[in-house]
Amino acid sequence: MKPSDIGQELSKKVRCQVSWDNHVRDCYSVDASSYLIKPQIVTFPRNESDIIKIIKFARKYHIPVIPRGGGTGLVGSALGRGIILDMRHLDKIKLGSKHVKVGSGVFKGRLDKILKKQGRFIGPDPSIGPFCTIGGMIGTNASGIHSLKYGSVIDNLIQVRMISSSGVVIEFPGKNKFNSIIKKIHSKNEIHFPKVSKNSCGYRIDVLSSEKDLYKLIAGSEGTLGIITSAKISTYELPKSILLCIIHYKTLSEAVRDVPEIIKSRPSAVEIVDNNITKYIKVNVPKSGCLLFVEFDNNIQPNRKQIQKITSGRIIRVESDTEKIKKLWNFRNSALAYSLRSITKNETMPTLIEDAVVPVRRLPLLLKMLDMISKKYGLRMIIYGHVGNGNIHIRPILKQKDLRLIKNIAHEFFSGVIGIGGSITGEHGDGLARSEFVKMQYDAKTYSIFKNIKKQFDPKNILNPGKIISNHSTVTRNLKI
Ligand SMILES: Cc1cc2nc3c(=O)[nH]c(=O)nc-3n(C[C@H](O)[C@H](O)[C@H](O)COP(=O)(O)OP(=O)(O)OC[C@H]3O[C@@H](n4cnc5c(N)ncnc54)[C@H](O)[C@@H]3O)c2cc1C
Repeated sequence: MKPSDIGQELSKKVRCQVSWDNHVRDCYSVDASSYLIKPQIVTFPRNESDIIKIIKFARKYHIPVIPRGGGTGLVGSALGRGIILDMRHLDKIKLGSKHVKVGSGVFKGRLDKILKKQGRFIGPDPSIGPFCTIGGMIGTNASGIHSLKYGSVIDNLIQVRMISSSGVVIEFPGKNKFNSIIKKIHSKNEIHFPKVSKNSCGYRIDVLSSEKDLYKLIAGSEGTLGIITSAKISTYELPKSILLCIIHYKTLSEAVRDVPEIIKSRPSAVEIVDNNITKYIKVNVPKSGCLLFVEFDNNIQPNRKQIQKITSGRIIRVESDTEKIKKLWNFRNSALAYSLRSITKNETMPTLIEDAVVPVRRLPLLLKMLDMISKKYGLRMIIYGHVGNGNIHIRPILKQKDLRLIKNIAHEFFSGVIGIGGSITGEHGDGLARSEFVKMQYDAKTYSIFKNIKKQFDPKNILNPGKIISNHSTVTRNLKI
């Protein structure tokens, strides 16, 4: 069917906007990743009834359905050739005393402002800040700078409401046909997951102990198990005082060696930026070496003393003024934007190996492996990220269109990460860049459970097909670089 035929037919069934306009389809062919795929149709459902009708239509004609939030995902998980569901109109917010019930299309920036008036916030805080949505955050099991203390989405979800692939409203926890899945997972299977503090690779069956936990399976499911319409999420009281210490180290290895000791004092964040980024920071910091940002939001005075004892680096700034701290965090949050300034017109920095997570004590091994890969292929790498969680964002700088090199690096890096007990993605998910490597991350038994889960939730494979469970190599296909 041509896009216009699908669009005209679908328009007769739903009350919401349906677009097959070329320009609109172009806008939705990209996200913040390195990929480009043009969808057939873009829809803007206004409620669950629209979504149910779109799903039933897609099922009848076997057209993929891809839910999309802010499109800030870094691995192309919101891209696909079928019908895009732009979830922005599912935007209701209902405050509770220690939680919030929130529509999946709510942008985090709007939620933050409303929660701030209540003196509260949600834990996961992707560095993209206000521009991602709750649905996208659940879809990727997002985390962020403060996840060291407040966890990823999976640690903060309480309930999920979604539309299944057969067009039925499902609530987790609640009575529904999927509850029996848990028994099958645990009856005869021993599953092996990396022992890391955050993980967005595959389906998170490691955290399911009873049917009451099934909502956690939806975290990080990338729109492959259902279309989330709303969720209940924990909120926290805004801290009364904060302390940010910026510590300078001559090398990344020296900095990461201090991290296991630093996290024992329970900081709210421990982040790193390398000298590709420090050179753009517009405050007086050394432009060589690297910086560790360590934040505490409780026990401030003892921690101020403690950090001086622990660190082998040089503390170059200690800040307790909330507004100044916000500005300093903006430098860290702009790391990706600063990185882009470091490359020339003929170079590219694909999102590919940008999100590995390893046990914190093994960070030196991860750096050693990166050094070997850089030397082997003569590459520069930009490094920053959430070292307190063992989660590092790595951007190799490559010549454009060198697809074979991209594949080689992906294979070598991912097998190395898995070899040192890590996960190939801590927070960004699998998407087009990593879904083919999910079977490398897990053993055959665990992967077959994933396949079975997908089959039970989506027997006709219409929900974001090819993501997480993939039979094709997509890491270099549809790259726009
Ligand atoms: C500069 C920059 C910094 C970033 N920093 C971080 C960071 O610190 N931590 C972090 O975790 N991430 C980070 N990200 C990645 C990204 O912002 C997050 O993954 C974010 O949560 C994605 O939200 P989104 O609304 O843009 O989702 P999208 O990109 O639109 O979608 C992401 C996935 O969720 C699915 N999805 C969206 N809505 C729904 C729904 N209603 N139901 C089911 N599935 C749905 C999509 O199909 C897709 O698979 C960063 C990105 C950028 C560009």
